[in-house]
Amino acid sequence: MNIAPQNFFPTITSKSTEEELISAARWLGQNRFADRAEEYDLEAKFPTENYEDLRAAGFLGLTIPADYGGIGVSYETYCKISQEIARWCGATALTFNMHAQTMFWTGSVFDTTPGFDELREEQNRRRAKLYARVLEDGAIFAQPFSEPNSAAAAGKAPFGTTARKVEGGWIVNGVKHFASLAGAASYYSMICTVEGMEGRDKIKKAVYLCVPESAEGFEIFGPWDPVGMRATVSRGLKMEEVFVPDELELLPPGVYYELSLKWPHMFFTLCPTYMGISQAAFDFTVEYLRPGLRDIPSKQHAVAQMRLKLEQSRALFETTIADAAYGPTKAQRMRAYAAQYTIMEHSQDICSLAMRTCGGRTLLKSMPLERLYRESRCGSLMLPWTAEIAENRLGEESLFEPGEPRE
Ligand SMILES: Cc1cc2nc3c(=O)[nH]c(=O)nc-3n(C[C@H](O)[C@H](O)[C@H](O)COP(=O)(O)OP(=O)(O)OC[C@H]3O[C@@H](n4cnc5c(N)ncnc54)[C@H](O)[C@@H]3O)c2cc1C
Repeated sequence: MNIAPQNFFPTITSKSTEEELISAARWLGQNRFADRAEEYDLEAKFPTENYEDLRAAGFLGLTIPADYGGIGVSYETYCKISQEIARWCGATALTFNMHAQTMFWTGSVFDTTPGFDELREEQNRRRAKLYARVLEDGAIFAQPFSEPNSAAAAGKAPFGTTARKVEGGWIVNGVKHFASLAGAASYYSMICTVEGMEGRDKIKKAVYLCVPESAEGFEIFGPWDPVGMRATVSRGLKMEEVFVPDELELLPPGVYYELSLKWPHMFFTLCPTYMGISQAAFDFTVEYLRPGLRDIPSKQHAVAQMRLKLEQSRALFETTIADAAYGPTKAQRMRAYAAQYTIMEHSQDICSLAMRTCGGRTLLKSMPLERLYRESRCGSLMLPWTAEIAENRLGEESLFEPGEPRE
């Protein structure tokens, strides 16, 4: 393992290699994030200091295209970096994903999707300003999609949050729940149903907007005291007649829907966080058992079972992040569902086995495994690809081709 000295603070650029980017993330994780994780978790407090470090090291521009001054990493490299951050602080990786994906969808995902020729010039002009907010002002973006009616985030119904077109912008109304980075983000990126649309157009022509934290009519509400991922501070958001200027339109009406169909791997990026958690639980167990317990056959058996699950997850993870691109084949899309299901479910299994094997002292809050165990519980219930939804799609799409009549 390549470990930089403790007094070396890394900075990254668009010329940094994948290995340098991952070791910079590892340095931040090991030297800064790991020690802070317990307090953030106990107090359900956002990891602000970790974001200051990410900002200082250049990570806020990680998925902004290099042409716009960002680091411009590929999807695959991003996933490996996200996984590394999660080994040290799961909540930092999960929240950072919301920011990084807002940049990635408006950047690389949009650029690699054909069919938007007439929109590109305006999109390029707008996103240059958007990216400057990150690179020059240090802005952080949240990605609150989920609403009390989950069918929308699962792609089955229109979002309840609406946007009405007015001179110079949009008026947004609605409620979001589980908005990670609540109170910490500078902007909240959300999909809104365009008012006046009828039927399927309510879903197909949705617009992707971002609401500034200081906007009039924008409110954060509700408590946040969950079992795990406590430092994500995923509270509720309420928008009442909030004005969003045109320049904060992240993607024009209709584009998000097309991307969600043609670039399905854009929904897979929660998985690196849970790969990192699984790896951390495995590493913890090996370290914990070494002095005195590793000769016991049942410990060796349990570690072997953990490793089997980790290797299965990793094999699917690596193939899936290499598959990610515009227009995957059916086999690649199905593999992404299988990978999502496996990584999320195995993360819980691995953490549970780790606790059973290491014993009672790992139940204590002072032990990182106690936090990993609770965090691992959250992955399989995150939309749009919860474990159940991934399983449903695997079954249904194996048995039916698109458009095939049901008996
Ligand atoms: C720590 C954490 C952070 C989060 N951060 C964010 C965020 O930043 N942005 C964001 O948008 N969301 C975020 N979420 C929300 C998350 O993605 C889900 O929207 C939320 O957990 C849904 O709550 P629910 O399970 O009570 O919803 P429900 O929709 O009521 O689901 C209940 C159960 O039914 C299942 N289910 C729902 N729909 C279907 C379906 N169509 N088919 C089969 N099964 C289904 C679900 O898997 C779930 O088990 C976060 C969640 C957590 C736990």
